Amino acid sequence: MYKITPVPWIIDLDKQGKFIGFSKTTGGGRRDRGKLLTVPYPGARTSGIKANLLVDKAEYVLGLPKDDKSAKRHDVFVDLVRECAEATGDAGVGAVLEFLQSMNPATLGVPKELTADQWVSFRVDGRFPTDSPAVKSFWADHFASVDDDQKKEKMNCIICGSKCIPVSPHPANVKGIPGGQTSGLAIISANSVAFESYGLERSVIAPTCATCAENYATAANALIQDENTHLRVGPLIYLFWTKQDSPFSPLSFFSKPEPDEVKALIKSAWKGRQYTSIDATHFYATAFSASGARVAVREWLETTVGNVKENLARWFVLQQLVNWDGGEGEPYGLYPLCASLYRDANKEMAPNVPKVLLRMALYGGGLPMWLLYQAVRRNRAEQKVTRPRMALIKMVLLSGEKGKEDTMIQLELSNATPAYLCGRLFAELEAIQRAAMPSANTTIADRFFGTASSAPASVFGRLIRGAQNHLGKLRRENPAAYKALQQRLEEIQLQLPEFPAVLSLKDQGLFALGYYHQRAADRAGAKASRDNARSQEENNNILE
Ligand SMILES: [Zn+2]
Repeated sequence: MYKITPVPWIIDLDKQGKFIGFSKTTGGGRRDRGKLLTVPYPGARTSGIKANLLVDKAEYVLGLPKDDKSAKRHDVFVDLVRECAEATGDAGVGAVLEFLQSMNPATLGVPKELTADQWVSFRVDGRFPTDSPAVKSFWADHFASVDDDQKKEKMNCIICGSKCIPVSPHPANVKGIPGGQTSGLAIISANSVAFESYGLERSVIAPTCATCAENYATAANALIQDENTHLRVGPLIYLFWTKQDSPFSPLSFFSKPEPDEVKALIKSAWKGRQYTSIDATHFYATAFSASGARVAVREWLETTVGNVKENLARWFVLQQLVNWDGGEGEPYGLYPLCASLYRDANKEMAPNVPKVLLRMALYGGGLPMWLLYQAVRRNRAEQKVTRPRMALIKMVLLSGEKGKEDTMIQLELSNATPAYLCGRLFAELEAIQRAAMPSANTTIADRFFGTASSAPASVFGRLIRGAQNHLGKLRRENPAAYKALQQRLEEIQLQLPEFPAVLSLKDQGLFALGYYHQRAADRAGAKASRDNARSQEENNNILE
């Protein structure tokens, strides 16, 4: 309960408490509100007369009249100094008490500019008594007991373990949590009997000393204010920190991953253990979300910087996926992966989605199948796939299989899984339709992606018969395209003797991957043959 605050006036005393003089600490500029001192600070004085310890407005410190309560306010201030002097035996506080008991403001020579509302502090023999450890601990205990109608039994602080009178309510809130009120949220509170335990009420359910309660809130708020130590994803805010100073922060990898930095990370950390010594610096992450007036702690992770680098590298290896046009794709941060599951991610995103993805990025392990379920359902609802969603599907499928992390990046001709082949075949049937009817309003994907990816046998026969008509047209109008498409169709069909009646959840993911891979490979092939034709033409021009 200390705060850095400007104090424009200081009263200097000697060791015995004899008055030396007033010092003005402002230079007179409009923004110069006085010397910044770290002093006891009670927060807002909402009701009643409460004095601050050893530093306060001149009305409290000297009894300068403001209204009919000024004399009473001064008495309360003096009483608190007396209480502190008796409890601590601190010589500096004793000197201040000596001065207060004998002084007369009328003969003190109070400077004319010193008004009743300005803050005044004491300096005894060149030192501020508020800096004394005994005074600090007195103030912590005093604050803990203010407004506390509970039993003031000493208990062990759950953070530092020391015997203390637990503070209630905790002095500072955590501010800046998505969806939370601007005045901040409490981490510890029990505002209903259901949350009470062992006969303890309110924040005493988790007994905390005043110093620790203030420290954790100050630390959380500092992490939330610093751009480099927090990340907001949907309803969650993640805080990251290390025990020792460390240049490493995973933040940019999650918020805006640069391809070169991701490559460097993968090179140094993924399967690279034999070359680099593991960084054992302790690394912590926690996730908060708002739950009414309280903080819900959604996640708590404790590991080392070395492990985080290794797991983060694996996270990016798992999401490696060819681009839609066959080129090398870029890595995704956390948000696009999560958002790929929703029509309106800003409104709909559930906290568990970023949570499981981030946990895997920092901790390793696999992704849950419910994530695959959501992705597959979204594919069916939209009747199409998107690259971030495909990256997510790939991450779920491969994160559960050790050693397969860097497979399935692009078209795998040797993959004979029926679901994967069905997906490839569906892509080719769509390509045939597009080649024969370039201006068609709806494609077969628009109409059949959902059924084809979940119950292939019910729809592929019809799609293949339709394709025969398109191929007949192409044979007459564009023999080169006909030949290429017919050949690819046969290659896939040859490996697929029959269509599965239903596809499992995992198979639906493989179907989508086969579809995506085949389309990317076809686009890359088309681009290569165009480039080839162009350079052929250029060569001919040169020869002419
Ligand atoms: Zn403590």
